Amino acid sequence: MADPIPEAAIRAIVEAGRRMAERNWVPATAGNISVRLPGGRIAITRSGFHKAHLDSGAVMAVGLDGRPENPALRPSAETGLHCGAYRAFPEVGAVVHGHSIANTVLSRRAGESIGLAGYELLKAFPGLPTHDAAIELPVLDNDQDIARLQAAVEARWARMAAPILPGYLIRGHGVYVWGPDMDAALARLEGLEFMLACEMANLSINPLPGGSAP
Ligand SMILES: [Zn+2]
Repeated sequence: MADPIPEAAIRAIVEAGRRMAERNWVPATAGNISVRLPGGRIAITRSGFHKAHLDSGAVMAVGLDGRPENPALRPSAETGLHCGAYRAFPEVGAVVHGHSIANTVLSRRAGESIGLAGYELLKAFPGLPTHDAAIELPVLDNDQDIARLQAAVEARWARMAAPILPGYLIRGHGVYVWGPDMDAALARLEGLEFMLACEMANLSINPLPGGSAP
């Protein structure tokens, strides 16, 4: 019998789900949320639960390889992407994934990254002490084969200069963001979503040449 999932980890996931749902970042049963546990374990949302109404029954434990401790339970379809971040970055304690309108629309029209520069909220990211900074947020093509998508993520990380930005977009799909704990991951997610919403607002008043906006 596997160890129970610590109460604090469940609380962090339930609360994150509520916050993300309040912002309309996890429509239907979209999104997934995880926390690193001691001993190479991860607590992650189960497949098919709405993130506004999570409870302890909606959270399960997997190994760093994504294998469920209880084989009768099905983890989120994208568990492999969470595990990939935990394996690559030992300091990561929480990973969040959401499907906002801004991250979906902007990633669909982006190339292989989205540049964000001059925003006060860039300070939400590590190593950027002032707004006078720029980041290139990676955009990866969507893929239902999660192992292949994770391999593409790792190939992108290999091309990026250190420190690796703690997040990326999947085209037409959503965002992944991580941090040392859930509060940090959510702060980065909120900062990123705010900047993407600003980019959306900017597009609607300054449509790009050839864009479909009137
Ligand atoms: Zn998703």
